[in-house]
Amino acid sequence: MSTEVTSPEAGETTAGNYFVANYPPFHFWDKGTAQHLEELLSKPAAKETPLGVYFHIPFCRKRCHFCYFRVYTERSAGEIQRYLDAGMAELERYAGAPFVNGRKPKFIYFGGGTPSYLSVKQLRSVTDRMKELLSWDEVEEVTFEAEPGTLNEGKLQAIRELGVTRLSLGVENFDSHILEINGRAHRADEIQRAYKAARDAGFPQINIDLISGMVEETEDNWRENIRKLIELEPDCVTIYQMEVPYNTGIFKQMKAEGKLVAPVANWATKRAWTGYAFAELEKAGYTVTSGYTAVRDPERTKFVYRDSLWKGADLIGAGVSAFSHIGGVHFQNMTEIEQYIDTVTGGNLPVLRAMATTPEERLIRELILQLKLGRVQAAYFQQKFGVDVKSRFALQWQGLEQETLGQWTGGQFDLTREALLKVDSLLHPFFLPQHQNSRYA
Ligand code: SF4
Repeated sequence: MSTEVTSPEAGETTAGNYFVANYPPFHFWDKGTAQHLEELLSKPAAKETPLGVYFHIPFCRKRCHFCYFRVYTERSAGEIQRYLDAGMAELERYAGAPFVNGRKPKFIYFGGGTPSYLSVKQLRSVTDRMKELLSWDEVEEVTFEAEPGTLNEGKLQAIRELGVTRLSLGVENFDSHILEINGRAHRADEIQRAYKAARDAGFPQINIDLISGMVEETEDNWRENIRKLIELEPDCVTIYQMEVPYNTGIFKQMKAEGKLVAPVANWATKRAWTGYAFAELEKAGYTVTSGYTAVRDPERTKFVYRDSLWKGADLIGAGVSAFSHIGGVHFQNMTEIEQYIDTVTGGNLPVLRAMATTPEERLIRELILQLKLGRVQAAYFQQKFGVDVKSRFALQWQGLEQETLGQWTGGQFDLTREALLKVDSLLHPFFLPQHQNSRYA
């Protein structure tokens, strides 16, 4: 039942998405409106559902060639302030709604873009306002994405003092030439400086992001990357395999040159490099906890944001293009910053598209997201959805077992390491027929 990620004859990296971030897929989210969200917010939420807040900071020093997010470079302090004010006005709408009604967030996430692009003054005023709107008293984790070149000792100390517990460093590669050729703003020496200062600032958890298969990546360089990574001893490591969606600089260049294959390693190589990294990390005492992550101490190093979302938590996503999942409904905000600011400052909710999910779709969503951890437990789904996933998806499990990609042991299905390294390509057979299509690489 497995689906290979690229054309079988080549296995090359072609344009398209590999990473399955949500379900049903985004291109089906066209049935909801701001009115829909207003209605949802006017009623109380299910009390036991955990709540999280995501705030999107869409500014970066420069645009990386592989980036597929909506980001803005060279914005003035005044323009940034207008955006932050709009973000807080949006959050105020949520905080005052019966749906939230005094609920306290369990996790906060600052994503982007580059949250660390903001000045300490801007960060202080935003987080002060956020805490006024929604208490951080019961927050278990505050994650903050950072680009190494935007950090210094003073800023890192201030970020820690704001309450950030999980600093996620977008390192991507330790080689300055590879960083440069891929359009990254930072360089190798900035990584070392930022990491040391982050350690000194005392963050309970530091994550390092890497990408396997950047343009001009080689076997030797990748091995050197992993050596340097392990030398730093981060609490958590996240490795993405390079994909080339249609809105990236790399794809635009491919199109201009009439090329169908991206100038990056093929899928087998990217998987092998990620597998090598995991094996080396395990030798160094790390535990692999998903298809993308390894942690030094699984007892201490949790990822509350990911684990809560993958178990159906409510997420209020504020900011341009931000995603929310509220009361079983997916929403995405408008993706143009001016339109977003004008809509919010005009007193309206900036919804671009939405989709109300059925219980079956919510079950599939949690099942495929949890499969990315490498294992699922039948009892969880039986208890939450009243469905025996073992029999409901018997054909899909059979397909995985026949290809020796995983097996049931009692009430738990475990993926093999080989399967985990290509987990996103194994999820589509679990989709409902109307959601299966070829929009993935
Ligand atoms: S730093 Fe991240 S969000 Fe910004 S351009 Fe690069 S990949 Fe995109």
